[in-house]
Amino acid sequence: MGLALRNQLAAPVTLLALFVFLAGIPLVAVGWLGWRLLEQDRALDVQRVRERLDNAAALAAREIDRSLAARNDLLIPAAQGESVSLPADAVFLVFDSRLLQRQGVRLPYYPKASPPLDVPAILFADAEAQEFRNQDLSNVAVSYRAIAASKDRSVRGAALMRLARVLRKQQKLREAFAVYGELAGLGETPVAGSPAELVARRERIVLLNATGGDEAAKEKQLLVSALFDGRFQIDRATFDFYQEVLSTPHAPAETSRPSLDLARAVEALWPLWQQQSAGRAASAVNESVFAAVWRRTPAGTAALIGRVDDLMTSTQAVLQNLDVRLALEDPSGRLSWGSPVADADRVTRTFRETDLPWTIHVALADPVAAQAISNSRRNVLAAGFGVMLLAITAAGYFVFRAVRRELDVARLQSDFVAAVSHEFRTPLTAMCHLTEMLEEGATPPDRLPLYYGALGRESRRLHAMVESLLDFGRIDAGRRGYQFVDTDATELVKQVVQECRDHAPSAAHRIEWQALSVRAREPVRIRADREALALALRNLLDNASKYSPESSPIRVSVRPQGAFVGISVEDEGVGIPKDEHRAIFRKFARGSSARALNVKGTGIGLTMAEQIVKAHGGRLELQSEPGRGSRFTALLPVRPSHA
Ligand code: ADP
Repeated sequence: MGLALRNQLAAPVTLLALFVFLAGIPLVAVGWLGWRLLEQDRALDVQRVRERLDNAAALAAREIDRSLAARNDLLIPAAQGESVSLPADAVFLVFDSRLLQRQGVRLPYYPKASPPLDVPAILFADAEAQEFRNQDLSNVAVSYRAIAASKDRSVRGAALMRLARVLRKQQKLREAFAVYGELAGLGETPVAGSPAELVARRERIVLLNATGGDEAAKEKQLLVSALFDGRFQIDRATFDFYQEVLSTPHAPAETSRPSLDLARAVEALWPLWQQQSAGRAASAVNESVFAAVWRRTPAGTAALIGRVDDLMTSTQAVLQNLDVRLALEDPSGRLSWGSPVADADRVTRTFRETDLPWTIHVALADPVAAQAISNSRRNVLAAGFGVMLLAITAAGYFVFRAVRRELDVARLQSDFVAAVSHEFRTPLTAMCHLTEMLEEGATPPDRLPLYYGALGRESRRLHAMVESLLDFGRIDAGRRGYQFVDTDATELVKQVVQECRDHAPSAAHRIEWQALSVRAREPVRIRADREALALALRNLLDNASKYSPESSPIRVSVRPQGAFVGISVEDEGVGIPKDEHRAIFRKFARGSSARALNVKGTGIGLTMAEQIVKAHGGRLELQSEPGRGSRFTALLPVRPSHA
């Protein structure tokens, strides 16, 4: 704010404080509202997700329960021998103290196997007596061979085993090997408490290991398939016994096979099946998890156990549509199914709540995408509030500016009144003084013309001031009517200059006249209200003489500039700082030069000059630098000469 007056009239701090306060209330209110809304939206989002997950968890629990119940419903009909369709990879068992029935997957071993019937030893008593006394082994072999011809498969098996034993004692390994081959052909016929094939294959491997060769690997493969295909109902001890021979060189020990895992799961659950009359449970073996249902039936305890993946297919299908993922955790906290779910964003149903073998965790399938949607919604909301805050701030600022302007004008106006009164006082005081002297009648007659002359000058000055004020009033209100006539600009300016010289002879020498027409003699034709334009020019000349030293010249020129003629008034005075170039044209505004030089004035001269020039279709331009003087140029449109 360069203007001295502006400094004085700067909006009071209280006004600023008031506006900050008034604009601050809605700002804070809207800001708080926005923040609350965002918070609520966030909370609502969390709640919505939680509800969705709650529903999904309930649905999942119901679906798993339904799947287990469906398996449970199979138990009685299956135990009664009805044909039921078992889930893939599942095994159905009926047992009391031993295994009674099996359907589905054949297991490598069972927790309990039916004890095989033994062949009466009496059949071999004679031959064995001879054998153990080591008498005539070839004779013994003949006896065993004879018994081996029996139609009874178990008798045959027992005889073949003894025959092979004798042959081995005789070092007839090749023949013993062949006899074991025969024995293997008897399959599951029990021999010495085990299926004949297992016994035979094991012995063949032992024999082959002794002799070495590829044959051993082939034989091991045969034993592996006999064991793992679950061809025989054997118990764990038997299975381990036969499996042991496989871990010798040439064949890797088989430890992980689906059927073996299932057998282990059955083994693990077996005690529970015996303790509880009915139930559902899960068991994990290696990477596989199995789910079992069981109950007592008239035929014995029936149990159905299969892979949890198979149990979960229907549940998974249901959940897929809900865009959630599921994890099952067994009571020990081990993940049974699904992928791990972070604690923070999941809903949990414990196994106690659901009566299932697992605790259920449900989370969003794609939390990042869900988050992105809510985030973008919140961003829009935040942006909306941001715009509102901006709008309130901007509105507050503009109202503040307008009010400040109005206040400025009010103050300028009161200053103006003071200045005008002051200006009026000078001529009025002089006139009063002269009138008093004349009234007294003591004035010498020779001085009378001097007094009358002074009285006349002062009253004309007063008249001019009143006229000027009335003019300003009309111009400012836009009520001044203009009488445009064809005028020669040079001639008009010359006339105004002459008048000024006449009125102020002391300053007359300062005014330098320059008419710079293209063709110097030709008139510059404009349409002008001569009186108004003369008033504008007088104001400019007046200012030039007020704001420059008495010794410096004032140059007046008329220069055609294209379609315009520029009438300039130039001084070498104090000049006007750049930041006041616009402000000094406002009404009542006075610049720093007025203060610096203590020049009296009302701040309406430039306002009037500019309004008049504008009314002529022109513009008033200012070039000035502090300390170097100022040039005001009224640019007025020139009338084309043919018009
Ligand atoms: P006033 O002269 O009565 O103050 P004006 O409207 O004529 O009012 O001028 C406004 C202000 O412009 C003046 O107060 C002064 O500061 C500045 N001004 C005008 N003309 C000149 C000039 N020729 N040189 C320096 N300052 C000027």
